[in-house]
Amino acid sequence: MENIYLVPIGEIDKALLEKLIEPLHDRFKLTVEISASLPILEEAYNFKRNQYLASPILDQLKKNIQPDAKKTLWIIDKDLYTYGLNFIFGLADIKGQACLISIIRLRESYYGKSEDKELFFERVLKEAVHELGHTFGLRHCENPKCVMHFSNSLLDTDIKEADFCDRHQAELEKKL
Ligand SMILES: [Zn+2]
Ligand SMILES: [Zn+2]
Repeated sequence: MENIYLVPIGEIDKALLEKLIEPLHDRFKLTVEISASLPILEEAYNFKRNQYLASPILDQLKKNIQPDAKKTLWIIDKDLYTYGLNFIFGLADIKGQACLISIIRLRESYYGKSEDKELFFERVLKEAVHELGHTFGLRHCENPKCVMHFSNSLLDTDIKEADFCDRHQAELEKKL
């Protein structure tokens, strides 16, 4: 029970996953491993919205958690929504085992701008750390620089850092 598994859902750039290993290990002190890709649940696709409903995807993924996983981070390159929200960057089981992030809205090219690979990676890392933080029981932070600050928009993601504020760092360390 010492691992964080990074699990690509559908096609995800392997280099992106590999780049996440070290910064996630630094923050959570667990071995980080990349698992084989899992297929996207096409039944969750909503043609009218051109988006995937997150909850059935999560339900299906939860059946595929590896027994030796302490935490599982699923990464998908499709747009996700949940009832009452236009879209979501990610979601997690509070104090649970697993979380999911969507990276599609983290690219500048999604907004018709030219791609910025470094900015894209920073955003992916922040969302990954944020959702994993929730699985360790961390709640949202009022400090806009803390990685546990809620991202209502990409602007919030860009303002916050990929690290925990002192309070959240201390809270996390008690749980590692
Ligand atoms: Zn959150
Ligand atoms: Zn904080």
